[in-house]
Amino acid sequence: MAVYNYDVVVLGSGPAGEGAAMNAAKAGRKVAVVDSRREVGGNCTHLGTIPSKALRHSVRQIMQFNTNPMFRQIGEPRWFSFPDVLKSAERVIAKQVTSRTGYYARNRIDLFFGTGSFSDEQTIEVVCPNGVVETLVAKQIVVATGSRPYRPADIDFHHPRVYDSDTILTLSHTPRRLIIYGAGVIGCEYASIFSGLGVLVDLIDNRDQLLSFLDDEISDALSYHLRNNNVLIRHNEDYERIEGLENGVILHLKSGKKIKADALLWCNGRTGNTDQLGLENIGIKVNSRGQVEVDQHYRTSMSNIFAAGDVIGWPSLASAAYDQGRSAAGNIVENDSWRFVDDVPTGIYTIPEISSIGKNERELTQAKIPYEVGKAFFKSMARAQISNEPVGMLKILFHRETLEVLGVHCFGYQASEIVHIGQAIMSQKGAANSIKYFVNTTFNYPTMAEAYRVAAFDGLNRLF
Ligand SMILES: Cc1cc2nc3c(=O)[nH]c(=O)nc-3n(C[C@H](O)[C@H](O)[C@H](O)COP(=O)(O)OP(=O)(O)OC[C@H]3O[C@@H](n4cnc5c(N)ncnc54)[C@H](O)[C@@H]3O)c2cc1C
Repeated sequence: MAVYNYDVVVLGSGPAGEGAAMNAAKAGRKVAVVDSRREVGGNCTHLGTIPSKALRHSVRQIMQFNTNPMFRQIGEPRWFSFPDVLKSAERVIAKQVTSRTGYYARNRIDLFFGTGSFSDEQTIEVVCPNGVVETLVAKQIVVATGSRPYRPADIDFHHPRVYDSDTILTLSHTPRRLIIYGAGVIGCEYASIFSGLGVLVDLIDNRDQLLSFLDDEISDALSYHLRNNNVLIRHNEDYERIEGLENGVILHLKSGKKIKADALLWCNGRTGNTDQLGLENIGIKVNSRGQVEVDQHYRTSMSNIFAAGDVIGWPSLASAAYDQGRSAAGNIVENDSWRFVDDVPTGIYTIPEISSIGKNERELTQAKIPYEVGKAFFKSMARAQISNEPVGMLKILFHRETLEVLGVHCFGYQASEIVHIGQAIMSQKGAANSIKYFVNTTFNYPTMAEAYRVAAFDGLNRLF
């Protein structure tokens, strides 16, 4: 059994682990990364963000081919199977692994593939797939072990027709009818993907509104477009039990309804990957969701142990996880790369795409802030017309006296890109954060960014 000494050991090679490892290595620390998978990238690359976004992209292309009359000259609408579109996701995953493996090599970071656990606050034992145990000793350790789908004990996830967001990537057929239980971001994204493939989706929501943290108008738009694409949304429902059949499932709801489908995709909650870490050996506690508590410096209750990414809970996004990991390492190396990550935009890759930053109308109304609204509808914009992407809107909320931009809410083509223009302006101080920026600045034409100019004029015209 070999013992290796490091300045920093990072557990997990998802975005949080990568952000931490790169920052520590660039500051001259000797770094090792441990991951229980045999490839880097974390669940983000292998099971979550990357495969779902690649699937969505392929489905959007299929939808464009099947609905744009121009393509009828080269063929009739075609049906694609889920395994077919999965292949393009696999290609992206492989490319991501190659690029990311290169980053570790370039930064002289040692990689250990095996499951790591604490034997004391400076020692990690790594059990490798071949049974060999390696011992890593480090002054500082970053826990970035991510999360996995929450699996209630009363649901048989071994049933061949019951999937979660990890196992759905092994689906080898295309169901005609699919139940998606849980209408959070992941449930809504998969509802878009499967309905785009022509699958009849029942989307079961525990609440009375989809993604209620969004601006109401955008949440309504999402519901409309999902329904328009054959998704049956059932609000305020809870499961009683899930009955597995030979070729399908029956979902029994507490309301007495029974829904039958070829398969069920469970998208209700996630659990932090802490159960194999041996945290009990070093006195770090986790909450009921398996998450570790940290302070604003990403430090756990042990002063040399940090945690970042999904394992600490909110916002559980790859975008934030990378910055949290980088910040955790910023604290370790004591340079200026630390910040508490709380200004996270929302990017939701449903069809249509949704993105927002800042306050929404409900929040501003509750806070009695005198705001005004400016809107641009994509159906009138040249770039959206050229791209055959008429669905969507950009909405800017701004203070009617100071003209400060308070929120940007967008759905439709390129929404998750467009929002960053608003984000950049909102992060400016004083008069620089004014809606006037969008009317006093020349934008490329035709672009989707032009929506800011249109929305700003619309909003400023409402002032008196
Ligand atoms: C379907 C889906 C879609 C998503 N879409 C988006 C999106 O569009 N945008 C976005 O920003 N976020 C998205 N997310 C969320 C995003 O994937 C996560 O927030 C992100 O992966 C968290 O990164 P992380 O570094 O904390 O951990 P992870 O990516 O979960 O990686 C953790 C790694 O640690 C390893 N590990 C676990 N335990 C141990 C151990 N004991 N020893 C060694 N290694 C261990 C795991 O095997 C894994 O490789 C999505 C998630 C899902 C499920």
